[in-house]
Amino acid sequence: MSSSPTATFFSKHHQLPPVHRHRSSPPTTINCTSSPTSVTTTNNRQPIPSLLPFSAKYVPFNTVTDESYSLDEIIYRSRSGGLLDVQHDMDALKQFDGKYWRSLFDSRVGRTAWPYGSGVWSKKEWVLPEIDNDDIVSCFEGNSNLFWAERFGKQNLGGMNDLWVKHCGISHTGSFKDLGMTVLVSQVNRLRQMNKPLVGVGCASTGDTSAALSAYCAAAGIPSIVFLPANKISMAQLVQPIANGAFVLSMDTDFDGCMKLILEITSELPIYLANSLNSLRLEGQKTAAIEILQQFDWEVPDWVIIPGGNLGNIYAFYKGFKMCEELGLVDRIPRLVCAQSANANPLYIHYKSGWKNFMPVKATTTFASAIQIGDPVSIDRAVYALKNSDGIVEEATEEELMDEMAAADSTGMFVCPHTGVALVALKKLREKGVIGKSDRTVVVSTAHGLKFTQAKIEYHSKEIEGMSCKFENPPVEVAAEYGAVMDVLTKHLSKVS
Ligand SMILES: *Cc1c(COP(=O)(O)O)cnc(C)c1O
Repeated sequence: MSSSPTATFFSKHHQLPPVHRHRSSPPTTINCTSSPTSVTTTNNRQPIPSLLPFSAKYVPFNTVTDESYSLDEIIYRSRSGGLLDVQHDMDALKQFDGKYWRSLFDSRVGRTAWPYGSGVWSKKEWVLPEIDNDDIVSCFEGNSNLFWAERFGKQNLGGMNDLWVKHCGISHTGSFKDLGMTVLVSQVNRLRQMNKPLVGVGCASTGDTSAALSAYCAAAGIPSIVFLPANKISMAQLVQPIANGAFVLSMDTDFDGCMKLILEITSELPIYLANSLNSLRLEGQKTAAIEILQQFDWEVPDWVIIPGGNLGNIYAFYKGFKMCEELGLVDRIPRLVCAQSANANPLYIHYKSGWKNFMPVKATTTFASAIQIGDPVSIDRAVYALKNSDGIVEEATEEELMDEMAAADSTGMFVCPHTGVALVALKKLREKGVIGKSDRTVVVSTAHGLKFTQAKIEYHSKEIEGMSCKFENPPVEVAAEYGAVMDVLTKHLSKVS
């Protein structure tokens, strides 16, 4: 077997030479493992009294109670029917200071030692501290590009010069869902090794969740089942689970309809539920926030703007930032903005009402199809994240989001419509003077633009009813003759020069 670094990540890791399965030495003299018993310092041979092991459990979300569950239980809701949250033993993590964690995480970026080269598993102690490295199912997710959107900021936002786009969609299956799915599928893999009765993993999806689920399950040889709303996801998103061998059910309903069905089905059959109701995924997704801080050398940006649908990710970002503050890696957290499509905007309406009585909406068709959700599962998580980060909610119409997407593309990006929604939120907050010209701002790009080529083609060929498509750039049809080509080119060049 090849021992090249690339092979390390994509091979069956239990067959690798042992050296690849050993963690690289931590940068300080304190030895940190998932179950530390004692440590020695170099200048003092006395062992320090035994340390608390790192651990995590499920607790009811944002509730004071002693109800808790092992992560090895198959459970999605609290006794009262509320959401669960993964709670880490913060006292155990606090045995090490912020400087220790910063240098430990920095020492692992892009390295080959399994599984720490992954952007998620480089933070293993904060994600799933107790899982055996051999049970982890990873495709080297995370470590995504934090792109300096220099030209876009200058041209489109009145000279904004500290604008960054976190390209979470440049990933194994082309969306940030990989970050959460590596954690969920790893835990399922562990449960199956423990002989828990699980025949497979299932999800309802607006496209990207099923793509990630089926890829990670296929990598581990675990059956996956996906419920998709017929004709409401892009062709690229549909072909991914098909290609990865998932059992795909296409249903004549919307996402909310698929979600209801999968909940009923998974309560009857031994199929593990992979929707973001499942709090394990958020543990992986929160590492994108930690990664942003790391990419800024642990300086905290002023704003982070995230497109939201089912609203798990906005909370995951909050949680990642908050943990870094609590454990002393940074001294504050950024203000969060959640950006919604105006056609699926229940959180926006709730925010505008001053957080009074939440009401689900009937979401209508939007080019930002992954956030076409009217009754978000994680509404409570999102409200909590926004209230505790001095957060804001904005919305974008179809024309606004498509124009912003096209404008971003014209400065060298190739973003998805959801990123367009986030860029509209930024533009509106800049125009209102809420976000300052020199504020360090990060826009979270959630999927790869290549998943949404159909929407871009319709835009650039002006095929969208009622939309002026003002940044259209259609190809020019010309005869394959020297004279004809020369004519159109000289005309074009006289315009651009
Ligand atoms: C899932 C998804 C979102 C929304 O994330 P939530 O956690 O559901 O709010 C946004 N953009 C893309 C591309 C997605 O796949």
